[in-house]
Amino acid sequence: MTKKIAVLPGDGIGIEIVAEAIKVIDLLKSGFGLGIEYETAPIGGAGYDAAGEPLPEATLALAREADAVLLGAVGGPQYDKLPRDKRPERGLLAIREGLGLFSNLRPAILYAQLADASTLKPEVVAGLDIMIVRELTGGIYFGQPRGIRSRDDGQREGFNTLVYSEMEIERIARSAFDTAMKRDRRLCSVDKANVLEVSELWREVVTRVSSDYPEVELSHMYVDNAAMQLVRAPKQFDVMVTGNMFGDILSDAAAMLTGSIGMLPSASLDENGKGMYEPIHGSAPDIAGKDVANPLATILSVAMMLRHSLEEPALADVIEKAVGKVLDQGLRTADIETEGATVIGTAAMGDAVVAAMQEMSN
Ligand code: NAD
Repeated sequence: MTKKIAVLPGDGIGIEIVAEAIKVIDLLKSGFGLGIEYETAPIGGAGYDAAGEPLPEATLALAREADAVLLGAVGGPQYDKLPRDKRPERGLLAIREGLGLFSNLRPAILYAQLADASTLKPEVVAGLDIMIVRELTGGIYFGQPRGIRSRDDGQREGFNTLVYSEMEIERIARSAFDTAMKRDRRLCSVDKANVLEVSELWREVVTRVSSDYPEVELSHMYVDNAAMQLVRAPKQFDVMVTGNMFGDILSDAAAMLTGSIGMLPSASLDENGKGMYEPIHGSAPDIAGKDVANPLATILSVAMMLRHSLEEPALADVIEKAVGKVLDQGLRTADIETEGATVIGTAAMGDAVVAAMQEMSN
């Protein structure tokens, strides 16, 4: 059956990197028999330019009807002065909310060929393979009430609300336990239960859910310690699960352990496994349009899409092997340059992955 994907390039380097991922998808179609069609729509600043909204209605409708969504990145300095609800990043929050994408899977894998690209000692990070499961549609980024108000003493104050229901905690916990079952069966739940009531409930519910997963070893860690442990001895972790804001911060720290955010894909899933797939990095306006952005995170996002939403794990393997082959050949974009490597541009990197895949189709 032909699957349909919605392709949302967004802004900045989003346009260039998605173009490379499309080359890969086209080859899967023509050379590997994948039944797939795609349609492109604007989001972020491009959505605002096209329809006055960071998430145009037609874009959300397309995403809803598709089997999966491939996203580039959103944002750019030209949109920074827009009212908050029109800013590109709002489009991202809105599509996650609109599609009910509550579970964000962010792997941090260090490719052996890139061990020197990390700022940490190779022995600390070599062979790193952790998965951070971040709750994506709740917590302080969405909690009400929120705002900036004036107090009686004339001072203004900003306020947000950190709130999680039992249902929200339970479903992200299940997503994390399911993920751990497919890996090394170790799950570390990260919270701030020594200070926050929300975290107290979080810990209680995660512990309760753990009784349904007796094979998974569950541990709990305070977020400040987790941040420290991630840079001290990151290989102690297999899967980590945490709320929206803690996950935002910890997954960026984990990403940097690997040396380049240009290498890391992500998946955001709903309750039925439908997902949106995107690189973890932003629109990188500083390098947009220069043919230097690394397209591998987006190409690897296609692999995650094949594995988690399109039930084509063998084709996911093809992409991941092709990326490994290209790194073996010593080809690098500037962000992952290592000694003796050949630095190539965005389009050439996409072409190199396609060529490596073509060899596998013969
Ligand atoms: P960023 O991730 O865009 O860039 C951070 C740094 O990493 C920059 O120096 C950039 O050049 C580099 N970089 C990022 N992706 C790269 C790639 N593929 N290849 C090579 N180098 C890469 O983060 P930022 O600079 O904080 O934000 C820029 C814009 O992106 C802002 O408007 C921000 O709101 C937005 N943003 C969007 C997303 C998203 O769409 N998911 C995520 C983060 C930031």
